[in-house]
Amino acid sequence: MTKTTTSLQLDDISISVIRSKKRKTMALQIRDDQVLLRIPARLPMALANRFIQEKKHWIQQTLANKTPSEKKQFTNGELFRFLDQKLPLNIIFAKRNKVYLENQTLIVETKVSEPSYLQLSKWITNWYRQQADEYLADRFALISKQLDFSPRSLTIKSYKARWGSCAINGAIQLNWKLIMAPVDIIDYVIIHELCHLQHHNHSSQFWGLVTHFYPDYQQARTWLKKHGHTLTID
Ligand SMILES: [Zn+2]
Repeated sequence: MTKTTTSLQLDDISISVIRSKKRKTMALQIRDDQVLLRIPARLPMALANRFIQEKKHWIQQTLANKTPSEKKQFTNGELFRFLDQKLPLNIIFAKRNKVYLENQTLIVETKVSEPSYLQLSKWITNWYRQQADEYLADRFALISKQLDFSPRSLTIKSYKARWGSCAINGAIQLNWKLIMAPVDIIDYVIIHELCHLQHHNHSSQFWGLVTHFYPDYQQARTWLKKHGHTLTID
């Protein structure tokens, strides 16, 4: 055998140490939130330990940046973003299939004793989409009215990499995943798209209009850049 694996502990992070006869230097890798340290077969463990202590900051940073985009596990207690809240998930074996919100908890009742990842993902996504259809439509109507905009229509749809769009004819689209963002952020996206009714570009006049209605827009943009990738179910 040319490879052996042990593990090292760095605070609460467990690091797999892989010894290999072919290896001459140490190498640190993070793959799927697993930290791997590859070292030469005969390297003393104390040196490996010192190496990871030196890299501690990098390891913590890299893991912290990765965690939010981690795939949903659909386990009890896992947190799901919904507007300004983070709802713990509670899967209950029951006589019916139903997803609902109760006491700040996202409850999935199911007749299936061990629902699969795909089933849970589908049920929860459907629930979010229903909430999005209702909430985004209401909020959009309210803000349009308050700010005196007359959009042609609103469609709520699924986008991979954008939050909304506004066509030349005044038809506006919003990404249903916004339902996972705080209310202020949703308002910003709605106002952004409404302002495109007057300026179909991102000119300084456009941003001037956005600022007029939403002075803190930079903060909202930063939030979306930082957390946007976490607004997803799978
Ligand atoms: Zn835009």
